[in-house]
Amino acid sequence: MTVTLDFDASASDAPTRRSLSNLSLAVAKCKKIIVVTGAGISCSCGIPDFRSSDGLYALVKQQYPDVVLKGRDLFDASLFRDPTSTAVFYTFISQLKKSIDSASPSPTHRFIKTLDSKRKLLRSYTQNIDGLEERTGLVGTSSQEVKSTGKSKSKIKTKDVRNVQLHGDIHRVRCTFCSADFSCTQEHIDIFLSGQPPNCPECSARSTARVARSARALKVGTLRPAIVLYDEPHPLGDDIGTIQTADIARKPDMLIIMGTSLKVHGFKKLVKDFARRVHESAPSPSSSGRSPLKKNAKSFAGKVIFVNKTAPGSEWDGIIDYHVAGETDRWCEKVIEDWKKARPSDWEVQKTLVATGESATGGSFHVAKEITNTLGTKGKGAKRKNDRKRENVPLPEDDVFDITLPLPEAPPSPSKRPRSRCHYSDVESSPSKKSREGATAPRESVHFEERGLLFGNTTNAKPRPAPMEDDFDLGENVTAAKVTKKGTTRTRNTKMQVEVVLEPKRKRTTA
Ligand SMILES: [Zn+2]
Repeated sequence: MTVTLDFDASASDAPTRRSLSNLSLAVAKCKKIIVVTGAGISCSCGIPDFRSSDGLYALVKQQYPDVVLKGRDLFDASLFRDPTSTAVFYTFISQLKKSIDSASPSPTHRFIKTLDSKRKLLRSYTQNIDGLEERTGLVGTSSQEVKSTGKSKSKIKTKDVRNVQLHGDIHRVRCTFCSADFSCTQEHIDIFLSGQPPNCPECSARSTARVARSARALKVGTLRPAIVLYDEPHPLGDDIGTIQTADIARKPDMLIIMGTSLKVHGFKKLVKDFARRVHESAPSPSSSGRSPLKKNAKSFAGKVIFVNKTAPGSEWDGIIDYHVAGETDRWCEKVIEDWKKARPSDWEVQKTLVATGESATGGSFHVAKEITNTLGTKGKGAKRKNDRKRENVPLPEDDVFDITLPLPEAPPSPSKRPRSRCHYSDVESSPSKKSREGATAPRESVHFEERGLLFGNTTNAKPRPAPMEDDFDLGENVTAAKVTKKGTTRTRNTKMQVEVVLEPKRKRTTA
């Protein structure tokens, strides 16, 4: 059964308040969280839920007074069969992109990014096409950063993806003929607004080159918004399937579903697959009953949380453990607040010193950035440091919270779940891909020790005064930071760990 927690009632209702706090602690303690989101998380950003938006439709209606197109019709692949509905679609997307461009990420988007920064996010999956996750720094499937350049079958480097854009990205356009994709520019938007598609520059270039050699001109494709319509396969379907399979193999310990009505068939299947796996991480009732210690150690794991104003339908009984009825932004802010109180060590700030100027001439230092503790360890140092990989390696528990929430029930039998024909189903349809992204493959990151090695492993040689201010200038202490031939830096260290990162080639600043 799904437990409903009314966010607004929590101020006056002690049991609800306690349950919500315990949920926050569970988030703070889990280490492999999958987040799935829908339009609800972008409402507070000023982006209309366009599938039911009267505002946007009214605008389009002005331009096409005789056309009757509503909601789903505007996002169904069949619209391309008719030139008028195609024109309406282009105009609509043009308007939608304008309203998205003037929006900024919500506290919910930033919360997902925080989970990632704290190394708790296994992956974010979104139905949204607004690309606001990318604006917080979560690299999406449509990002240029993840484009695969090698000969591999994959179109993208799946390991680098932090946010899976299940329905594409409105900020990209794609050629209907050669599939080349580009950033959506103002020029594209202006052409779309008139109901027309721009020509594909790659096709045009190829054709022009042929004509120049007196050969026959080639077909030139047109550009369309790189969003995925209903009944349309995702161009990155195989890669997304690979990512899902990998995430399921890595045994997620929490699923957070936010701002979606859970109605799209393929999306429902994805959520149910994740939920089943998350429940397998839950502590078994038998072991939790025997030893209170054991119960506390793991009882935060294995929860499926649904944060949405409206309740999930009865088909989600046994799949969703907790329905937090309320706005996602407010819940996210509360989780962060509770988390900071309960585990302040997760939020400790570590200063990073960056050397400026030529390494050969010494150069001065300034604090370039602050790194908050991303692991929540309480200085149980050396052993854990070895585990500092990008992926979430389970750590021993340092403190025990009494999480008194009832244990989730087992999910329904897999045979009862409907099979989907759309791109979401790739997870199960391609077992050959299952081993491609191994469960223990670390994500690329340079952690403290590795950085030390890069510069000769001398960063912890001798203590130096700890910086007190952000703009702490060590210009007068150049002799203390003695630079050796290899470009290594000797620094004096206090108990507080100060990372010294040399950035050669950087322009010298005069304080
Ligand atoms: Zn093309």
